[in-house]
Amino acid sequence: MSATAACATRHDWSLAEVKALFEQPFNDLIFQAQAVHRQHFDANRVQVSTLLSIKTGACPEDCKYCPQSGHYNTGLDKEKLMEVQKVLEAAAEAKAIGSTRFCMGAAWKHPSAKDMPYVLKMVEGVKALGLETCMTLGKLDQEQTKALAAAGLDYYNHNLDTSPEFYGNIITTRTYADRLETLSYVRESGMKICSGGILGMGESLNDRAGLLIQLANLPEHPESVPINMLVKVKGTPLADEQDVDPFDFIRMLAVARIMMPKSHVRLSAGREQMNEQMQALAFLAGANSIFYGEKLLTTGNPQADKDMLLFKRLGIQPEAREEHDDEIHQAAIEQALVEQRDSKLFYNAVV
Ligand code: SF4
Repeated sequence: MSATAACATRHDWSLAEVKALFEQPFNDLIFQAQAVHRQHFDANRVQVSTLLSIKTGACPEDCKYCPQSGHYNTGLDKEKLMEVQKVLEAAAEAKAIGSTRFCMGAAWKHPSAKDMPYVLKMVEGVKALGLETCMTLGKLDQEQTKALAAAGLDYYNHNLDTSPEFYGNIITTRTYADRLETLSYVRESGMKICSGGILGMGESLNDRAGLLIQLANLPEHPESVPINMLVKVKGTPLADEQDVDPFDFIRMLAVARIMMPKSHVRLSAGREQMNEQMQALAFLAGANSIFYGEKLLTTGNPQADKDMLLFKRLGIQPEAREEHDDEIHQAAIEQALVEQRDSKLFYNAVV
């Protein structure tokens, strides 16, 4: 398939076609993905979001990868729903260091009627700061989706996680159909969709292809497609899963880029465990979005500084919502470079 042919936005991918993409020689796949990427995006821009957990742990769902599930003992500190003011303070900090989107996540099966007014206030407040808003709160009904859209929520994150065939091995408390229903309500309400999955849960190539087919064959592609590498947490049932071959992970990003050419493909969870060379390869394969993560909100976070340094070294600019944000972010990068110049971190490309 030529890069141009692959670039057409399609919603009718078959398993055989997608497997053929995966099974190409690595260089051919990356070349094709990069060619597709350049037809829709500036290849040297990456969108930056900040993620904040607004309610942590004790989730009634049993997602086998998740340390927040109440079904597993992972020693995680449980926290109640954060106060609105604290969320807004965190959002203001995220904006100050250049994030353009603020994502708020709550470990719920679904938001309760009692919590919804607070959640809506958070959306309104973050939006008023001039940030794009994103939330992940579990299953939604139609009333809730409408209320969130009316409050100014731009994106709703609800991952499909894996293929329909493998899904029952990972989650038993919520069905695949429930997930698709929530996505359809989000779409109906006019919000943008953020939906992706996880590699490294013991799934097969067919399952990886099957996940991408589910996403790409939706009536509209999700605007944001997070591809996560399993973070193996002690106490969860997947703690001892085998590592994914890093090249297979890059292949997944490349195939996602080809199948959903206009979507932001996000290099998501697990990025902290990837070395800089692998992250650079991910950007080459068409990943163009990252999370800084909530830890950035504490001062002197070395991970955040490393991210800024990596951008600088690769000549990548953060994708700006407005030019003003871009300038702030660039200033933050320059500042980080000055501060890190004499530290070990500055010279260490691999850690
Ligand atoms: S629904 Fe979300 S927070 Fe709850 S266990 Fe699953 S992944 Fe974790």
